[in-house]
Amino acid sequence: MRIAVGGIHTECSTYSPVLMAAEDFRVLRGEDLLRSDYFGFLSAQGISHFPLLHARAVPGGPVSRPAYDAFKTELLERLKAALPLDGLYLAMHGAIKVDGMDDAEGDWITAARAVIGADCPLAVSYDLHGNVSQRIIDQVDIFSAYRTAPHIDTRETMVRAWSMLVETLRSGKRPGVAWAPVPLLLPGERTSTEDEPAASLYRVLPEFDRRPGILDANLMVGYVWADEPRATACAVVTGSDKAAASKAAEEIAANYWHQRDNFRFGSLTGSLADMLDIAERATTAPVILADSGDNPTGGGVGDRADVLVALLERGWRDALIAGIADRPAVDACFATGAGRTLALRIGGSLDPSSPSAEVEAKVVHLNDPGPVAERQAVVQVGGIVVVLSARRRPYHNIEDFALLGFDPKTVRLLVVKSGYLSPELAPIANPNLMALTNGVVNQDIEKLESLRRQRPIFPFDRDFEFHPSASLSARWT
Ligand SMILES: [Zn+2]
Repeated sequence: MRIAVGGIHTECSTYSPVLMAAEDFRVLRGEDLLRSDYFGFLSAQGISHFPLLHARAVPGGPVSRPAYDAFKTELLERLKAALPLDGLYLAMHGAIKVDGMDDAEGDWITAARAVIGADCPLAVSYDLHGNVSQRIIDQVDIFSAYRTAPHIDTRETMVRAWSMLVETLRSGKRPGVAWAPVPLLLPGERTSTEDEPAASLYRVLPEFDRRPGILDANLMVGYVWADEPRATACAVVTGSDKAAASKAAEEIAANYWHQRDNFRFGSLTGSLADMLDIAERATTAPVILADSGDNPTGGGVGDRADVLVALLERGWRDALIAGIADRPAVDACFATGAGRTLALRIGGSLDPSSPSAEVEAKVVHLNDPGPVAERQAVVQVGGIVVVLSARRRPYHNIEDFALLGFDPKTVRLLVVKSGYLSPELAPIANPNLMALTNGVVNQDIEKLESLRRQRPIFPFDRDFEFHPSASLSARWT
Protein backbone atom coordinates (compact mmCIF):
# COMPACT_ATOMS: atom_id res chain seq x y z
CA MET A 1 0.00 0.00 0.00
CA ARG A 2 1.14 3.49 -0.83
CA ILE A 3 1.21 6.51 1.52
CA ALA A 4 2.50 9.90 0.38
CA VAL A 5 4.02 12.25 2.97
CA GLY A 6 4.53 16.03 2.93
CA GLY A 7 3.41 19.30 4.50
CA ILE A 8 4.21 22.87 5.37
CA HIS A 9 4.92 23.97 8.91
CA THR A 10 5.26 27.45 10.36
CA GLU A 11 3.42 30.07 12.41
CA CYS A 12 2.90 33.64 11.23
CA SER A 13 2.10 36.78 13.19
CA THR A 14 -0.12 38.93 11.00
CA TYR A 15 1.25 41.91 12.96
CA SER A 16 4.76 41.38 11.55
CA PRO A 17 5.81 43.50 8.56
CA VAL A 18 8.65 41.09 7.75
CA LEU A 19 7.53 38.58 5.12
CA MET A 20 9.00 35.08 5.07
CA ALA A 21 10.76 34.05 1.87
CA ALA A 22 11.47 30.59 0.46
CA GLU A 23 15.04 30.79 1.85
CA ASP A 24 13.64 31.00 5.38
CA PHE A 25 12.34 27.44 5.09
CA ARG A 26 14.24 24.24 5.64
CA VAL A 27 12.89 22.01 2.92
CA LEU A 28 12.91 18.22 2.91
CA ARG A 29 12.09 16.67 -0.43
CA GLY A 30 12.33 13.25 -2.01
CA GLU A 31 14.56 10.69 -0.33
CA ASP A 32 15.97 13.33 2.06
CA LEU A 33 12.53 13.48 3.65
CA LEU A 34 12.47 9.74 4.29
CA ARG A 35 16.04 9.78 5.60
CA SER A 36 15.43 12.71 7.96
CA ASP A 37 15.20 12.22 11.70
CA TYR A 38 11.96 14.24 11.66
CA PHE A 39 10.20 11.56 9.60
CA GLY A 40 12.31 8.69 10.94
CA PHE A 41 9.27 6.79 12.20
CA LEU A 42 7.83 6.10 8.74
CA SER A 43 8.16 2.34 8.61
CA ALA A 44 5.34 -0.20 8.57
CA GLN A 45 5.11 -3.64 7.09
CA GLY A 46 3.40 -3.70 3.74
CA ILE A 47 3.45 0.13 3.38
CA SER A 48 5.56 2.05 0.88
CA HIS A 49 6.11 5.74 1.65
CA PHE A 50 6.33 8.31 -1.12
CA PRO A 51 8.09 11.50 -0.04
CA LEU A 52 6.69 14.76 -1.38
CA LEU A 53 7.90 18.04 0.10
CA HIS A 54 7.98 19.28 3.68
CA ALA A 55 8.82 22.96 4.22
CA ARG A 56 9.43 24.16 7.77
CA ALA A 57 10.50 27.56 9.10
CA VAL A 58 11.07 29.34 12.39
CA PRO A 59 7.80 31.25 12.97
CA GLY A 60 7.72 34.79 11.65
CA GLY A 61 5.68 37.17 9.55
CA PRO A 62 3.36 36.20 6.72
CA VAL A 63 4.81 33.93 4.04
CA SER A 64 5.33 35.68 0.73
CA ARG A 65 2.87 34.60 -1.93
CA PRO A 66 5.58 33.51 -4.43
CA ALA A 67 7.26 31.34 -1.76
CA TYR A 68 3.99 29.68 -0.80
CA ASP A 69 2.93 29.17 -4.42
CA ALA A 70 6.27 27.57 -5.30
CA PHE A 71 6.07 25.11 -2.37
CA LYS A 72 2.46 24.27 -3.16
CA THR A 73 3.18 23.73 -6.86
CA GLU A 74 6.05 21.39 -6.06
CA LEU A 75 3.99 19.45 -3.52
CA LEU A 76 1.16 18.95 -6.03
CA GLU A 77 3.54 17.91 -8.82
CA ARG A 78 5.18 15.34 -6.59
CA LEU A 79 1.76 14.18 -5.40
CA LYS A 80 0.54 13.66 -8.98
CA ALA A 81 3.70 11.71 -9.75
CA ALA A 82 3.07 9.42 -6.74
CA LEU A 83 -0.47 8.42 -7.84
CA PRO A 84 -2.20 6.05 -7.35
CA LEU A 85 -2.15 6.38 -3.55
CA ASP A 86 -3.89 4.60 -0.69
CA GLY A 87 -3.27 7.39 1.82
CA LEU A 88 -1.81 10.87 2.33
CA TYR A 89 -0.20 12.18 5.52
CA LEU A 90 0.47 15.91 5.87
CA ALA A 91 2.57 17.17 8.80
CA MET A 92 1.31 20.72 9.42
CA HIS A 93 1.63 23.47 12.00
CA GLY A 94 -1.67 25.21 11.33
CA ALA A 95 -0.97 28.91 11.84
CA ILE A 96 0.37 29.97 8.47
CA LYS A 97 -0.63 33.32 7.05
CA VAL A 98 0.15 33.79 3.39
CA ASP A 99 0.43 37.37 2.21
CA GLY A 100 -2.97 38.28 0.74
CA MET A 101 -4.60 34.90 1.56
CA ASP A 102 -6.68 33.68 4.49
CA ASP A 103 -6.71 30.05 5.69
CA ALA A 104 -3.52 28.95 3.98
CA GLU A 105 -3.72 25.43 5.41
CA GLY A 106 -7.27 25.24 4.03
CA ASP A 107 -5.89 26.13 0.61
CA TRP A 108 -3.00 23.65 0.91
CA ILE A 109 -5.04 20.70 2.14
CA THR A 110 -7.90 21.34 -0.30
CA ALA A 111 -5.46 21.40 -3.21
CA ALA A 112 -3.91 18.11 -2.06
CA ARG A 113 -7.35 16.56 -1.67
CA ALA A 114 -8.23 17.54 -5.25
CA VAL A 115 -5.24 15.55 -6.50
CA ILE A 116 -5.76 12.39 -4.43
CA GLY A 117 -9.52 12.25 -4.97
CA ALA A 118 -12.43 11.67 -2.62
CA ASP A 119 -11.72 8.04 -1.75
CA CYS A 120 -8.17 8.44 -0.45
CA PRO A 121 -7.83 8.78 3.35
CA LEU A 122 -6.02 11.96 4.43
CA ALA A 123 -4.38 12.36 7.86
CA VAL A 124 -2.95 15.56 9.32
CA SER A 125 -0.91 16.35 12.41
CA TYR A 126 -0.98 19.84 13.90
CA ASP A 127 0.61 22.06 16.49
CA LEU A 128 -1.97 22.88 19.16
CA HIS A 129 -1.31 26.55 18.33
CA GLY A 130 -2.78 26.09 14.85
CA ASN A 131 -6.04 27.67 13.71
CA VAL A 132 -8.54 25.25 12.21
CA SER A 133 -11.41 26.01 9.83
CA GLN A 134 -14.45 24.11 8.58
CA ARG A 135 -12.76 24.07 5.18
CA ILE A 136 -9.81 22.15 6.65
CA ILE A 137 -12.00 19.75 8.63
CA ASP A 138 -14.05 19.05 5.49
CA GLN A 139 -11.00 17.65 3.69
CA VAL A 140 -9.50 15.39 6.35
CA ASP A 141 -10.31 11.99 7.86
CA ILE A 142 -7.73 11.89 10.66
CA PHE A 143 -6.48 14.71 12.91
CA SER A 144 -3.94 14.72 15.76
CA ALA A 145 -2.38 17.67 17.57
CA TYR A 146 0.33 18.17 20.17
CA ARG A 147 -0.75 17.68 23.76
CA THR A 148 2.16 19.51 25.31
CA ALA A 149 3.29 23.16 25.30
CA PRO A 150 6.28 23.61 25.43
CA HIS A 151 6.15 20.96 22.73
CA ILE A 152 7.83 17.74 23.77
CA ASP A 153 5.48 15.36 21.95
CA THR A 154 6.10 16.35 18.34
CA ARG A 155 7.16 12.86 17.30
CA GLU A 156 4.39 11.15 19.28
CA THR A 157 1.78 13.39 17.65
CA MET A 158 3.04 12.65 14.16
CA VAL A 159 3.06 8.94 14.97
CA ARG A 160 -0.53 9.14 16.25
CA ALA A 161 -1.77 10.67 12.97
CA TRP A 162 0.28 8.37 10.76
CA SER A 163 -0.59 5.22 12.77
CA MET A 164 -4.31 5.93 12.44
CA LEU A 165 -3.77 6.26 8.69
CA VAL A 166 -1.88 2.95 8.52
CA GLU A 167 -4.63 1.27 10.55
CA THR A 168 -7.25 2.75 8.21
CA LEU A 169 -5.50 1.20 5.23
CA ARG A 170 -5.19 -2.16 6.95
CA SER A 171 -8.75 -2.32 8.26
CA GLY A 172 -10.45 -0.64 5.33
CA LYS A 173 -12.50 1.34 7.89
CA ARG A 174 -12.14 5.07 7.38
CA PRO A 175 -12.57 7.22 10.50
CA GLY A 176 -13.89 10.77 10.52
CA VAL A 177 -13.45 14.08 12.28
CA ALA A 178 -15.78 16.20 14.42
CA TRP A 179 -14.85 19.63 15.71
CA ALA A 180 -16.27 22.26 18.04
CA PRO A 181 -14.90 25.82 17.85
CA VAL A 182 -14.48 27.80 21.09
CA PRO A 183 -14.49 31.63 20.87
CA LEU A 184 -11.45 31.95 23.10
CA LEU A 185 -7.96 33.08 22.07
CA LEU A 186 -5.10 33.06 24.53
CA PRO A 187 -1.33 33.12 24.11
CA GLY A 188 0.58 29.90 24.60
CA GLU A 189 2.25 31.49 27.61
CA ARG A 190 -1.07 31.45 29.48
CA THR A 191 -2.03 27.97 28.31
CA SER A 192 1.17 26.04 28.93
CA THR A 193 0.40 22.42 29.68
CA GLU A 194 2.90 22.61 32.55
CA ASP A 195 0.53 24.96 34.39
CA GLU A 196 -3.09 24.74 35.48
CA PRO A 197 -5.72 24.77 34.18
CA ALA A 198 -4.24 23.60 30.85
CA ALA A 199 -2.33 20.78 32.54
CA SER A 200 -5.56 19.12 33.66
CA LEU A 201 -7.42 19.84 30.42
CA TYR A 202 -4.73 18.06 28.44
CA ARG A 203 -4.15 15.29 30.96
CA VAL A 204 -7.67 13.95 30.38
CA LEU A 205 -7.44 13.79 26.58
CA PRO A 206 -6.10 10.19 26.59
CA GLU A 207 -9.16 9.24 28.66
CA PHE A 208 -11.37 10.52 25.83
CA ASP A 209 -9.33 8.38 23.42
CA ARG A 210 -10.31 5.27 25.36
CA ARG A 211 -14.04 5.87 24.95
CA PRO A 212 -15.89 3.65 22.44
CA GLY A 213 -15.97 5.32 19.02
CA ILE A 214 -13.13 7.74 19.82
CA LEU A 215 -9.65 7.40 18.36
CA ASP A 216 -7.89 10.70 19.09
CA ALA A 217 -9.10 13.72 21.08
CA ASN A 218 -7.52 17.16 20.70
CA LEU A 219 -7.75 20.61 22.18
CA MET A 220 -6.47 23.39 19.95
CA VAL A 221 -5.50 26.61 21.74
CA GLY A 222 -5.18 28.36 18.36
CA TYR A 223 -2.91 31.27 17.51
CA VAL A 224 -3.81 34.66 18.91
CA TRP A 225 -1.41 36.82 16.85
CA ALA A 226 -3.39 36.10 13.71
CA ASP A 227 -5.94 38.83 13.15
CA GLU A 228 -7.98 36.81 10.70
CA PRO A 229 -11.47 35.30 10.68
CA ARG A 230 -10.50 31.67 11.28
CA ALA A 231 -8.48 32.36 14.45
CA THR A 232 -10.13 30.32 17.19
CA ALA A 233 -9.63 27.63 19.77
CA CYS A 234 -11.42 24.36 19.14
CA ALA A 235 -11.76 20.72 20.04
CA VAL A 236 -11.08 18.28 17.21
CA VAL A 237 -11.87 14.59 17.63
CA THR A 238 -11.04 11.73 15.29
CA GLY A 239 -13.42 8.85 15.77
CA SER A 240 -15.24 5.89 14.33
CA ASP A 241 -18.62 6.94 15.73
CA LYS A 242 -20.15 10.29 14.79
CA ALA A 243 -22.26 10.76 17.91
CA ALA A 244 -19.42 9.80 20.26
CA ALA A 245 -16.94 12.07 18.46
CA SER A 246 -19.37 15.01 18.47
CA LYS A 247 -20.15 14.54 22.15
CA ALA A 248 -16.46 14.34 23.06
CA ALA A 249 -15.68 17.48 21.03
CA GLU A 250 -18.44 19.41 22.77
CA GLU A 251 -17.27 18.25 26.21
CA ILE A 252 -13.65 19.22 25.56
CA ALA A 253 -14.78 22.57 24.17
CA ALA A 254 -17.03 23.22 27.18
CA ASN A 255 -14.27 22.29 29.63
CA TYR A 256 -11.92 24.78 27.99
CA TRP A 257 -14.52 27.54 27.89
CA HIS A 258 -15.38 27.09 31.56
CA GLN A 259 -11.77 27.69 32.55
CA ARG A 260 -11.45 30.90 30.48
CA ASP A 261 -10.90 33.20 33.46
CA ASN A 262 -8.30 30.96 35.09
CA PHE A 263 -5.38 31.03 32.65
CA ARG A 264 -2.28 32.76 34.00
CA PHE A 265 1.31 33.25 32.98
CA GLY A 266 3.40 30.43 34.43
CA SER A 267 6.43 32.51 35.39
CA LEU A 268 6.80 35.79 37.24
CA THR A 269 5.67 38.29 34.59
CA GLY A 270 5.54 42.06 34.36
CA SER A 271 6.89 45.16 32.68
CA LEU A 272 10.52 45.17 31.58
CA ALA A 273 11.38 47.76 34.24
CA ASP A 274 9.78 45.69 37.01
CA MET A 275 11.48 42.49 35.84
CA LEU A 276 14.89 44.21 35.70
CA ASP A 277 14.31 45.56 39.22
CA ILE A 278 13.76 41.99 40.39
CA ALA A 279 16.79 40.76 38.42
CA GLU A 280 18.96 43.47 40.04
CA ARG A 281 17.99 42.31 43.51
CA ALA A 282 18.32 38.60 42.75
CA THR A 283 20.93 36.73 44.76
CA THR A 284 20.52 33.56 42.71
CA ALA A 285 21.66 32.82 39.17
CA PRO A 286 21.15 32.52 36.35
CA VAL A 287 18.22 34.90 36.16
CA ILE A 288 16.69 34.09 32.78
CA LEU A 289 14.64 36.94 31.41
CA ALA A 290 12.30 36.23 28.48
CA ASP A 291 11.91 39.16 26.07
CA SER A 292 8.46 37.88 25.19
CA GLY A 293 7.16 40.41 22.64
CA ASP A 294 9.97 39.62 20.22
CA ASN A 295 10.08 35.82 20.55
CA PRO A 296 10.96 34.39 17.13
CA THR A 297 9.52 30.98 17.98
CA GLY A 298 6.13 32.65 18.42
CA GLY A 299 6.38 34.71 15.24
CA GLY A 300 8.33 37.67 16.64
CA VAL A 301 10.79 39.48 14.39
CA GLY A 302 13.69 38.93 16.80
CA ASP A 303 15.54 42.13 15.85
CA ARG A 304 14.54 44.34 18.78
CA ALA A 305 17.05 45.97 21.16
CA ASP A 306 14.60 47.07 23.90
CA VAL A 307 16.30 45.01 26.60
CA LEU A 308 19.81 46.00 25.51
CA VAL A 309 18.82 49.67 25.64
CA ALA A 310 17.31 49.24 29.11
CA LEU A 311 20.37 47.40 30.44
CA LEU A 312 22.73 50.05 29.05
CA GLU A 313 20.66 52.78 30.71
CA ARG A 314 21.05 50.94 34.03
CA GLY A 315 24.79 50.51 33.55
CA TRP A 316 24.28 46.76 33.92
CA ARG A 317 27.29 44.45 34.44
CA ASP A 318 27.39 40.76 33.63
CA ALA A 319 24.53 39.99 31.26
CA LEU A 320 24.33 37.84 28.16
CA ILE A 321 21.75 38.72 25.51
CA ALA A 322 21.13 35.89 23.05
CA GLY A 323 20.41 36.98 20.60
CA ILE A 324 19.42 39.80 18.32
CA ALA A 325 18.93 39.14 14.59
CA ASP A 326 20.92 41.81 12.79
CA ARG A 327 22.56 40.93 9.50
CA PRO A 328 24.15 44.38 8.91
CA ALA A 329 25.71 44.32 12.39
CA VAL A 330 27.04 40.78 11.86
CA ASP A 331 28.48 41.80 8.49
CA ALA A 332 30.16 44.82 10.11
CA CYS A 333 31.67 42.62 12.83
CA PHE A 334 33.05 40.18 10.26
CA ALA A 335 34.50 43.08 8.25
CA THR A 336 36.15 44.46 11.40
CA GLY A 337 37.51 41.20 12.77
CA ALA A 338 37.70 39.55 16.18
CA GLY A 339 39.45 41.47 18.96
CA ARG A 340 38.76 44.88 17.42
CA THR A 341 36.30 47.60 18.36
CA LEU A 342 33.75 49.31 16.14
CA ALA A 343 30.81 51.69 16.27
CA LEU A 344 27.72 49.55 15.86
CA ARG A 345 24.01 50.07 15.48
CA ILE A 346 22.27 47.06 17.01
CA GLY A 347 18.58 46.33 16.46
CA GLY A 348 15.83 47.41 14.11
CA SER A 349 17.43 45.94 11.01
CA LEU A 350 14.27 44.11 9.86
CA ASP A 351 11.29 45.94 11.36
CA PRO A 352 11.63 49.72 11.09
CA SER A 353 9.52 50.12 14.23
CA SER A 354 12.00 48.09 16.32
CA PRO A 355 14.27 50.17 18.56
CA SER A 356 18.04 50.12 18.13
CA ALA A 357 21.10 51.02 20.18
CA GLU A 358 24.15 52.98 18.94
CA VAL A 359 27.13 51.50 20.76
CA GLU A 360 30.87 50.99 20.84
CA ALA A 361 31.29 47.23 20.58
CA LYS A 362 34.27 44.94 20.86
CA VAL A 363 34.09 41.87 18.64
CA VAL A 364 34.71 38.97 21.00
CA HIS A 365 34.02 36.02 18.76
CA LEU A 366 33.00 35.28 15.18
CA ASN A 367 31.21 32.07 14.27
CA ASP A 368 31.24 31.21 10.58
CA PRO A 369 29.76 27.80 9.74
CA GLY A 370 29.78 28.57 6.00
CA PRO A 371 26.55 30.10 4.71
CA VAL A 372 26.49 33.85 5.35
CA ALA A 373 22.96 33.58 6.78
CA GLU A 374 24.25 31.23 9.48
CA ARG A 375 26.94 33.59 10.77
CA GLN A 376 26.97 34.83 14.34
CA ALA A 377 29.02 37.51 16.05
CA VAL A 378 29.53 37.91 19.79
CA VAL A 379 30.20 41.48 20.92
CA GLN A 380 30.95 43.11 24.27
CA VAL A 381 29.09 46.35 24.93
CA GLY A 382 30.14 47.72 28.31
CA GLY A 383 29.32 44.97 30.79
CA ILE A 384 26.95 43.24 28.42
CA VAL A 385 27.70 40.46 25.96
CA VAL A 386 25.41 40.37 22.95
CA VAL A 387 25.05 37.54 20.46
CA LEU A 388 24.16 38.83 17.00
CA SER A 389 22.78 36.45 14.39
CA ALA A 390 22.61 37.01 10.65
CA ARG A 391 19.18 35.40 10.47
CA ARG A 392 16.13 35.30 12.71
CA ARG A 393 16.54 32.47 15.16
CA PRO A 394 16.05 31.43 18.78
CA TYR A 395 18.71 30.61 21.38
CA HIS A 396 16.71 28.09 23.36
CA ASN A 397 19.01 25.06 23.52
CA ILE A 398 22.16 24.58 25.60
CA GLU A 399 23.92 23.59 22.38
CA ASP A 400 23.25 27.06 20.90
CA PHE A 401 25.31 28.55 23.74
CA ALA A 402 27.97 25.84 23.90
CA LEU A 403 28.77 26.43 20.23
CA LEU A 404 29.75 29.99 21.15
CA GLY A 405 31.66 28.97 24.26
CA PHE A 406 28.97 29.94 26.81
CA ASP A 407 27.56 28.02 29.72
CA PRO A 408 24.19 29.67 30.47
CA LYS A 409 24.31 28.35 34.05
CA THR A 410 27.26 30.61 34.88
CA VAL A 411 25.69 33.89 33.69
CA ARG A 412 24.17 36.30 36.22
CA LEU A 413 21.47 37.49 33.79
CA LEU A 414 20.63 35.68 30.58
CA VAL A 415 18.21 37.46 28.23
CA VAL A 416 16.53 35.30 25.60
CA LYS A 417 13.82 36.09 23.12
CA SER A 418 11.23 33.62 24.32
CA GLY A 419 7.79 33.23 25.78
CA TYR A 420 7.66 30.35 28.20
CA LEU A 421 11.19 29.01 28.45
CA SER A 422 12.30 26.02 26.40
CA PRO A 423 12.55 22.59 28.02
CA GLU A 424 16.36 23.04 28.23
CA LEU A 425 16.41 26.53 29.75
CA ALA A 426 13.44 26.25 32.12
CA PRO A 427 15.14 23.82 34.54
CA ILE A 428 18.23 26.03 35.02
CA ALA A 429 16.42 29.39 35.40
CA ASN A 430 16.88 30.70 38.92
CA PRO A 431 14.53 32.52 38.66
CA ASN A 432 12.65 32.75 35.34
CA LEU A 433 11.20 36.20 34.63
CA MET A 434 9.04 37.11 31.66
CA ALA A 435 9.03 40.73 30.51
CA LEU A 436 5.95 41.99 28.69
CA THR A 437 7.98 43.71 26.03
CA ASN A 438 6.79 45.26 22.79
CA GLY A 439 6.85 43.42 19.51
CA VAL A 440 4.63 41.65 17.01
CA VAL A 441 3.86 38.86 19.50
CA ASN A 442 3.05 41.20 22.37
CA GLN A 443 1.62 39.17 25.25
CA ASP A 444 -0.72 42.01 26.27
CA ILE A 445 -3.24 40.55 23.84
CA GLU A 446 -6.29 42.58 24.84
CA LYS A 447 -4.48 45.58 23.35
CA LEU A 448 -3.83 43.87 20.00
CA GLU A 449 -5.47 45.49 17.01
CA SER A 450 -8.48 43.35 16.18
CA LEU A 451 -9.92 44.23 12.79
CA ARG A 452 -10.68 40.87 11.20
CA ARG A 453 -11.28 38.42 14.03
CA GLN A 454 -14.71 36.82 14.38
CA ARG A 455 -16.51 38.49 17.26
CA PRO A 456 -17.39 38.00 19.96
CA ILE A 457 -14.25 36.24 21.12
CA PHE A 458 -12.83 36.08 24.64
CA PRO A 459 -10.89 38.00 26.02
CA PHE A 460 -11.43 40.68 23.36
CA ASP A 461 -15.09 40.44 24.35
CA ARG A 462 -16.20 39.27 27.76
CA ASP A 463 -19.92 39.71 28.06
CA PHE A 464 -21.42 36.94 25.97
CA GLU A 465 -22.78 33.43 26.31
CA PHE A 466 -21.40 30.41 24.55
CA HIS A 467 -22.47 26.78 24.25
CA PRO A 468 -20.32 24.45 22.15
CA SER A 469 -21.80 22.81 19.11
CA ALA A 470 -19.89 20.16 17.17
CA SER A 471 -19.83 19.90 13.37
CA LEU A 472 -18.73 16.91 11.35
CA SER A 473 -16.35 16.88 8.45
CA ALA A 474 -18.26 17.00 5.17
CA ARG A 475 -16.53 13.69 4.42
CA TRP A 476 -18.29 12.09 7.40
CA THR A 477 -21.86 13.33 7.09
ZN1 LIG B 1 3.17 25.72 19.13
